[in-house]
Amino acid sequence: MENGTNLPAENNSENQIQKKVILKGLTLSELKNYFLAKGLQKFRGEQFFYWMYNHLSTNIDEMTNIPKTIRNEIRNEIELQTLEYFYTEESENTKTKKYIFVTKDNNKIESVIIPEETRTTLCISTQVGCPLDCQFCATGLMGYKNNLSSGEIFDQYMLAAKDYGKEKITNIVYMGMGEPLLNYQNTLKSLKIFSNELTKGISVKKITVSTAGIAPKIRELADSGINVKIALSLHSCFEEMRSKLMPINQKYSLKENLMAVRYYAKKTGTRITFEYIMLKDLNDTDEDVNALVKICKEIPSKINIIPFNSLSHMNPKGFSAKLESAPRDRIENFVQKLRDKNITVMVRQTQGDDIAAACGQLAVKFL
Ligand code: SAH
Repeated sequence: MENGTNLPAENNSENQIQKKVILKGLTLSELKNYFLAKGLQKFRGEQFFYWMYNHLSTNIDEMTNIPKTIRNEIRNEIELQTLEYFYTEESENTKTKKYIFVTKDNNKIESVIIPEETRTTLCISTQVGCPLDCQFCATGLMGYKNNLSSGEIFDQYMLAAKDYGKEKITNIVYMGMGEPLLNYQNTLKSLKIFSNELTKGISVKKITVSTAGIAPKIRELADSGINVKIALSLHSCFEEMRSKLMPINQKYSLKENLMAVRYYAKKTGTRITFEYIMLKDLNDTDEDVNALVKICKEIPSKINIIPFNSLSHMNPKGFSAKLESAPRDRIENFVQKLRDKNITVMVRQTQGDDIAAACGQLAVKFL
């Protein structure tokens, strides 16, 4: 139906509900096309792009270089904002700040600000829930509801930046709820917006997309020309164990994913981050160290060791319920062995678990 409603015909004349054009989330070329299609100059698209993504404006009357006649012509047919604040919480210990935003269709999503000594990272979501069933992840336990639009992905940054201070956010990681490469088009559009020189704010070098490993999409992203950094959630160097931890490995094997990230590193000139949760007796042995070293020698990369954040608040069942973090000394030992082989290893400090904002704990309580 033209007007996007399901109202019976006789009601339509009264209601005249028109579907709005959601400008937030459109790329520069899409914005130019929007204005061209209205018979206006395409540089208006550039002006809008600047106002929405650089100035973070949601009020058309702030856009003072757009003539009033144009503003009046389009003000009722466009949307400049896709999300609203719903809830925020700041950790006393670490100053990690969690946001819950609500979408127009009333889905709740989460973003987290993680301040560290030398940088402040915003972690954003790409889906409502997640269709992957990674056994260690709380988001997986809540199931999948929806893909986020490119506007909804960007607006997490906009609302966090407005609240926290745009200049304070130095890095963005696509590591919140969802699998970015299963929402590939919208993820790519949001990256095009962040990476456009008109957006300034954040350089694409400071953005990392984390994936559980959707090999064909890793290759597609490599060919997109965006050159964002990627992180592969590795968690085991062995097919069988990885499939147990991350069932998606049965569809896109570790082997395929390693070939894809090697291609990515070569094509983009970036280093791959391998994320690795240390799980007691499952991936913390000398055999695991050796396999990791072999992979890192073949692919320009570094390893990010992540302590396992407990899922006990989600009452997990089966294999999930049995997962335990490797003990501190085992983690230290593991890291030392890797460093002895000249592998770059970072050990991520758990941040924000007192407010359930740490990795894998982003399952919304308010659904
Ligand atoms: N779907 C993407 C991004 C979201 S998860 C991916 O899989 O990479 C972001 C990171 O947090 C991933 O490395 C994921 O494996 C990790 N993670 C998930 N649950 C965790 C938990 N309970 N403890 C620690 N890290 C976890």
